[in-house]
Amino acid sequence: MLTKQDLVQHEEYLKLNELGEFVIDIDEDLEIIDFHTHMCNVLPIKHIDPNSKGNKLTFPTLPPIEKTDFSVPYWTKEELNINQKGIMPVFRYVKNAYAVLQDVKKGGTYDNCFKSQADNKIVLNVVLPLSTKKCDCSPEALRIAADYPSRFVAFCSVHPDDPEMKKKIVKYKGLGAKGLKLKISDIELKNDFSSLVTLFRTCHEAELPVILHTGSIPVDQERTSKLLWKFLRSTRVELFGHLLKEMPKDFVFIFGHSGVCEYKLVAEYLKKFPSSYAELSSQSQHSIRYLIDEVGYERLLFGSDWPALPQAITLSRVLIATSENKDARDHILSKNAKKLLKQ
Ligand SMILES: [Zn+2]
Repeated sequence: MLTKQDLVQHEEYLKLNELGEFVIDIDEDLEIIDFHTHMCNVLPIKHIDPNSKGNKLTFPTLPPIEKTDFSVPYWTKEELNINQKGIMPVFRYVKNAYAVLQDVKKGGTYDNCFKSQADNKIVLNVVLPLSTKKCDCSPEALRIAADYPSRFVAFCSVHPDDPEMKKKIVKYKGLGAKGLKLKISDIELKNDFSSLVTLFRTCHEAELPVILHTGSIPVDQERTSKLLWKFLRSTRVELFGHLLKEMPKDFVFIFGHSGVCEYKLVAEYLKKFPSSYAELSSQSQHSIRYLIDEVGYERLLFGSDWPALPQAITLSRVLIATSENKDARDHILSKNAKKLLKQ
């Protein structure tokens, strides 16, 4: 059976720490900002105290070791067990999503976060809360940044249908939020994007960058269930590309995860919309290099999606993709982020 150790043996810039967790392997001093992280208390579910100790992360989002291939986005070429008709794929997907949420809720603590920051030479985590219409997690994210201002920067997250949307965005900016994060789908919006465009305009006026979860995992339309296909495709990159056409040219939009498997389309939109950025969590060394070749390195941001994913994996992909280009490396790891965060 393949072990984690076998997996990292031939991987550049990636090793295991004393606990057997993925960490980066590089001696040089680097300044690294992780533009896509969460914490246990910024999710719209009942949370635990981030000061809790001893909770371990298991990363159920990662593919099994024997199916792992870091050279493609989402790090597996294997058929996912959701490519099947009927209700089973939906069930499996929901079960996995629940496991991921529980893991983040349990393990997204200060303890685990500081250890991961130290292991991976990360100076600053951008904390992205995930609000729903009913649950606004922005105050918790702001609390994290207030508790440890040298380690965290907070975004706010306000649902487009929140009746106090405009007021809240202005208020959170005043309290130190550096941008807005949202994970939303066309299913949730019932294909009516007017409230989302109003939210974009409000952020544009407040000079806050907006990062949205974009793209989906590889799924085969012919073979998976109709319902799951509709759900997964509902955050497709194309949708956000259409919305950006309605926005002023200087609206700062960040494609979260660089669209996962749709990174080539993200590259097209970055060419079209000069103020848009791509955040790289879940990408591979090849897709990152593709993005650098297509759009340059001044609008790419390192992000990991910790604690849903280990910080070291996307980070080691960035290091491989930029091993011959230190200027690109510096920009992707921190310079571009600093510009957006006005740091
Ligand atoms: Zn995330």
